[in-house]
Amino acid sequence: VTITIKPTGEDQTIIIGDVIILRNITVFKELDFAKTNFIATVSHELKTPIASIKMSLQLLEKPATGSINTDQKQLIDGIKEDSQRLLKITGELLELSQLETGNIQLNMEKSNPYEIINYAIEAIKVQAEQKQIELRIEAEHNLPEVKADSEKTAWVLINFLTNAIRYSSENSSITVQLKKENNQIAFQVIDTGKGIDSRYKTKIFDKYFQVPGSHKSGTGLGLAISKEFIEAQGGTIGIESELGLGSTFYFKLGIV
Ligand code: ADP
Repeated sequence: VTITIKPTGEDQTIIIGDVIILRNITVFKELDFAKTNFIATVSHELKTPIASIKMSLQLLEKPATGSINTDQKQLIDGIKEDSQRLLKITGELLELSQLETGNIQLNMEKSNPYEIINYAIEAIKVQAEQKQIELRIEAEHNLPEVKADSEKTAWVLINFLTNAIRYSSENSSITVQLKKENNQIAFQVIDTGKGIDSRYKTKIFDKYFQVPGSHKSGTGLGLAISKEFIEAQGGTIGIESELGLGSTFYFKLGIV
């Protein structure tokens, strides 16, 4: 490491010496592996009880006898939202730990793009309803199949949609678009939410990055994992956005 001093206001840099740092990195690697394993175990252990809390809430909401009052409904909605958030976080931590241990296993197969979209919409429908957000699907007809890991691709789409719901206001709408572009199929999620400043357009795909002042809980991991998933499948991922007007998140995958 070369130590340099740059006095403020001056362009000149003075080199004052070199320092060599020797470290045995084996111990760091072992610690890192232990940490990643720990995160995987903990997030896995957390996921199951949270999922069962969610299921119980659905039952509580529609009691076999009698009915619930508005206060109780409000409480149930609050817990449902919290458990949804916890599920997102634990899901992201689990995927992250698998990526970090080099465990990304792709199951590439001929996949139907309409089925992937329907699966993702089904998974987030209730969240959208809670904010009275209208979901629109605009899909070209007779699209060919894509070569993809459908589970991982649906995960990315669900992440795009969850974000779109979080960063959009009530009573707005979100459009999911599917179209052919040369020898690829483009999947797009278009929202009319708060949008993203152009200076953060590439940063949002970095691990742990959250747009300053976005005031939403979360890990900043969803888009980083999405990028890894799509690029591992040979696809591309990106965003177009106008601050204050909305964002379009997209990915493109090759046709079979
Ligand atoms: P998280 O949502 O857990 O913070 P993500 O990686 O999914 O992590 O997103 C990173 C950041 O990108 C978010 O914190 C938010 O600031 C911004 N972002 C993502 N999706 C949208 C969107 N649809 N509209 C506005 N901002 C978004």
